[in-house]
Amino acid sequence: MSISTITGTIPKTWRAKLGTFSKALDGSIGINFSESGSVNCDDSCLMKAKGCYAVHTERMKPSIHTSGERKRAQGVIRTAMAYIKQLARLNDNSVPWVRFSVFGSVPASLTRTEAAVFTELLKQAERVGAGGVHFPVETEAKRALYQALASESTDIVVRVSAQTKGAFKAAVYSHTAASVVWTKGETKRERLALARAFVSDIPRAIVCPAVAATIEKTASVKCGECTACSKSDIHVVYPQH
Ligand code: SF4
Repeated sequence: MSISTITGTIPKTWRAKLGTFSKALDGSIGINFSESGSVNCDDSCLMKAKGCYAVHTERMKPSIHTSGERKRAQGVIRTAMAYIKQLARLNDNSVPWVRFSVFGSVPASLTRTEAAVFTELLKQAERVGAGGVHFPVETEAKRALYQALASESTDIVVRVSAQTKGAFKAAVYSHTAASVVWTKGETKRERLALARAFVSDIPRAIVCPAVAATIEKTASVKCGECTACSKSDIHVVYPQH
């Protein structure tokens, strides 16, 4: 089934809109498929049980939550098609940074048609993204599924968000792009110092410079200037802040 045939079957109801992403350079976009903490988020994710920061943010901003619920209810095909239509209007390399799943996550499995539409979305995301595409997922199984789709026609890296230091190291040493949130330490500055000590003996691991700059109140760094999260061989630690 071609993408245009699929488009023809979608009624003109509510459509997902490209989101903004404040951690990135102005004009960057977020692409979301669900609300945080929903069935799209794998139950094995330790953050889901412990109090995910994105769930917390959505409680403060209920409109984000409602929008995520709608996207999930509409399903992958309608949501992805709505995004594809909007991205298709943008010029090549016209968006500083593209981030998947700023809120929520992508489904654990896809039908063949969903996979075909998602692959087209990845192509469009790579085409418009000047700085790169950040696509994190919470399990290795999801990473493998979406990386296989991405690798069909793009250089997009799907990054596993590890939930423990051990899982992060295991991913790094198996050459899988990984990230982890660093929670140890009483204060933000303590967490930053401990995270820096942690990465110092892990090859090609860095502390997110945007978070570091926020904590140290130095000149801001934005995604798009820093493109670490789009690179397959860089592993990123985010001190909780
Ligand atoms: S490491 Fe770079 S690209 Fe990744 S979140 Fe931090 S600033 Fe953005």
